[in-house]
Amino acid sequence: MRPRDTYAEPYRIKMIEPIKLKKPEERERLIKEAHYNIFNLKAEDIYIDLLTDSGTSAMSANQWAGIMLGDESYAGSKNFYNLQAAIKDIFGYNFVVPTHQGRAAENILMSMFVGENQRVPGNMHFDTTEGHIRLRNARPLNLVVDEGLKTDSTNLFKGNIDLERLEEELKNNGPSRLPLVIITATCNNNGGQPVSMSNLRAAYELTRKYKRALFIDAARYAENCYFIKQRDPAYRNTSIRDIAREMFSYADGCTMSSKKDALVNIGGFLAFKDNNEWYEKAVQMQICYEGFRTYGGLAGRDLEALARGLYEGTEEDYLEDRIGQVNYLGQQLRDTGIPIVTPVGGHGVFVDAMSFLPHIPQHCFPGQSLTVELYREGGIRSVELGACAFGYIDPETGQEVFPAQELVRLTIPRRVYSDRHMDLVVRAFEAIAARKKKIRGLEIVYQAEILRHFTARFRPRD
Ligand SMILES: *Cc1c(COP(=O)(O)O)cnc(C)c1O
Repeated sequence: MRPRDTYAEPYRIKMIEPIKLKKPEERERLIKEAHYNIFNLKAEDIYIDLLTDSGTSAMSANQWAGIMLGDESYAGSKNFYNLQAAIKDIFGYNFVVPTHQGRAAENILMSMFVGENQRVPGNMHFDTTEGHIRLRNARPLNLVVDEGLKTDSTNLFKGNIDLERLEEELKNNGPSRLPLVIITATCNNNGGQPVSMSNLRAAYELTRKYKRALFIDAARYAENCYFIKQRDPAYRNTSIRDIAREMFSYADGCTMSSKKDALVNIGGFLAFKDNNEWYEKAVQMQICYEGFRTYGGLAGRDLEALARGLYEGTEEDYLEDRIGQVNYLGQQLRDTGIPIVTPVGGHGVFVDAMSFLPHIPQHCFPGQSLTVELYREGGIRSVELGACAFGYIDPETGQEVFPAQELVRLTIPRRVYSDRHMDLVVRAFEAIAARKKKIRGLEIVYQAEILRHFTARFRPRD
């Protein structure tokens, strides 16, 4: 990776979207009115929104031009054929099933493969993937390598699946118990950590040996390709497109949330390498849940923006700038002494809130408290992945159970913010660090039974 100060963004700005920093007293009032939960804030009251990288990308002039070429025919839209050609070109897959989002592609895939009491191993399933597996009374298994769960590791491929444990599972469970394996690349849930080519190849060979299917959750595949190029000397001189081609040759197909690396605001797809039977089966489900074969819940114009976004998402200068910006923020925070998950992943910087605010016990929500302070200090929206998002009350003991990690994610939208915005995030952290002993933590005053973080209400502790 070139040093960040030796190049600039590989684009210039044609259209701007104004954002405003509210006054400190207004921010104080707004976060209180939001019951100290950033999900309740209005987007327009936020200055720098790092809630998610999903669907928040800025589209290019080329994509917007494509929007005007939307062919809104019910069947056989020309934009579908453009998308199909792009996927064939980049992924090497012949059969394409468009869907309205990534989770819709997962719904179709799981309904085809997964039934009651089965096991579905992967490196680390994304939340919705896990949800679709559980919905079918099957069991998701997260077999990520041990290093993948260590926050201060220096391992370069923390998204790898533990091959020994995978083989054990395949050996001990026949196809009727374990129908498929899913590799998520990059691995979202441990910080956008990449999967190496050799790990993917070996996982694929195991699924050949035991005659099972392997699918890639491709939401951030291009970022994964970039990491392979940067971190595996064997690929230093291979183009991103060739790396992608090789990656997807080690799978039977993929699900994709286009809201990530395809640089669009909505959309997804399911694709199969060459199995026409699977494709026909998927189309039956698609027609019930999404729409006809050639649009799958998307407008023709969305299909066109997606086809174009797929190409742009694999451009090397775009990826260098994108991953470079995330890394820039991570390094600055580290230099300031803020504890973060290392190495910095593809789509965001994950702050270790427990080490940053060691005086706040986990039942007083140090991560959630940090999200509140970031809004107070800089109008910045981040998201807690800790005691609130993953903690729950054990129905048997009535005790609160807390997750091992207490993280705050700063997710960087693609092509949206400049490094100066990143600098302000660092400034906000510096200011919070200087007064952090005074932060007292929060207590919950309302919570829903499931997925409580979206709607929970808090009050500051005395
Ligand atoms: C976002 C995401 C999904 C789900 O996609 P949606 O488009 O939000 O439905 C699945 N897997 C991963 C890895 C994701 O990041």
